[in-house]
Amino acid sequence: MKRRLLNEDHEMFRQQFRKFLNSEVVPYQEQWEKDGIVPREVWLKAGENGYLCPWLPEEYGGSGVDFLYSVVIIEEMAAIGNVGFAINLHNDIAVPYIWNFGTDEQKKKYLPGCCTGEYITAIAMSEANTGSDLQEIKTTAVKDGDYYILNGQKAFISNGILNNLAVVAAKTDTKIQPQYKGMSLFLVDDSCPGYKRGQQYEKMGFHSQDTAELIFEDCRVPKSNLLGGEEGKGFGMLAMELQQERLGIALEAVAHMNRMLAITKEYIHSRTAFGQPISAFQNTRFKMAEMYTTAEMCQVFIDRLIEEHVAGKNVDLETAMAKCFMCESVKTVADQCLQFFGGYGFMEEYPICRAYRDMRVLSIYGGTTEIMKEIISKAKLK
Ligand SMILES: Cc1cc2nc3c(=O)[nH]c(=O)nc-3n(C[C@H](O)[C@H](O)[C@H](O)COP(=O)(O)OP(=O)(O)OC[C@H]3O[C@@H](n4cnc5c(N)ncnc54)[C@H](O)[C@@H]3O)c2cc1C
Repeated sequence: MKRRLLNEDHEMFRQQFRKFLNSEVVPYQEQWEKDGIVPREVWLKAGENGYLCPWLPEEYGGSGVDFLYSVVIIEEMAAIGNVGFAINLHNDIAVPYIWNFGTDEQKKKYLPGCCTGEYITAIAMSEANTGSDLQEIKTTAVKDGDYYILNGQKAFISNGILNNLAVVAAKTDTKIQPQYKGMSLFLVDDSCPGYKRGQQYEKMGFHSQDTAELIFEDCRVPKSNLLGGEEGKGFGMLAMELQQERLGIALEAVAHMNRMLAITKEYIHSRTAFGQPISAFQNTRFKMAEMYTTAEMCQVFIDRLIEEHVAGKNVDLETAMAKCFMCESVKTVADQCLQFFGGYGFMEEYPICRAYRDMRVLSIYGGTTEIMKEIISKAKLK
């Protein structure tokens, strides 16, 4: 079905970005998987070419374009099976906090560097003891003259090693009830004494993504780096950004479904058994038919939600539905596609093998499937 979401300009941008990925990312992805990290240089190259935060106004270094350019970036990254070079996290999750809630001073200080790649960002909410229930975070921020002193530790942070600017959730008031009213967000950059990295995790997938612990040890953060300049607003800010974060993850799931189906289609036509291609077996054709149907329906729903999002509508509930359904579906698609590869599907050199491992986390980060179901059932059953 022809997509209505994107126009010619977006598609032209897609061609340019694809070219960039083919020369600057695709040839190096295998090495990055082994290295457990992507080089800072590729971020700078992406910045030079206008692929970092293109939605920011020109005065801050962006191109002033709409979120649909981010959609293209997310889709093209998935089309090459990339999960390590976390442009989407930077462009559409972390930097929007500064743009939407930052003071003028904060915007001027950080946004131009976010467009050039000088700043690579992270969003640091989760802790070892809590991820779904963010009210329970233990990191604290205590005012001390012109500074806040941060103490605590963050777990599972994407871009954990590479980032030199993190949006960090901390409690400025540990006594207030309900607890969420005590949460504030801070912009912590590498110049803040006491901002350290902990271990980089060894993970099931996402091997080229430098997921790590962040440590704040009497970390001195200038008072002017309290996001938005007001204490106690952190939880509300997090809630307001979730729609875009979850839409991006659901879109990623659909784009990965499409990639896995394309890879599998090629394989089942070329591999034979019992004198015929694997694609000739009814089981294969029916399973593929089911998966194409799922992918197409997801595409239509996600495109509709993106349209509403770009129009400034609140689609939090429907986004939870999309995140829940699409991030579960992508795991089923990965599993069924892999099955058609037989033993080769279990071999690391086959892209479907890595896709299967990589897709597992989509129903965990950005809010688990169970949390999505809580949101949906609360709204629908009231
Ligand atoms: C690769 C990776 C990258 C990540 N990147 C980031 C990042 O950049 N920044 C960041 O802040 N975090 C990040 N995370 C953390 C991620 O957001 C959390 O892992 C996720 O929110 C789940 O939290 P948790 O791991 O503490 O699980 P828990 O909250 O302990 O949940 C454990 C299980 O209990 C279930 N559960 C919890 N509450 C309920 C409930 N009310 N009803 C039913 N079931 C429930 C959950 O669904 C889950 O199945 C990342 C995680 C991974 C694995």
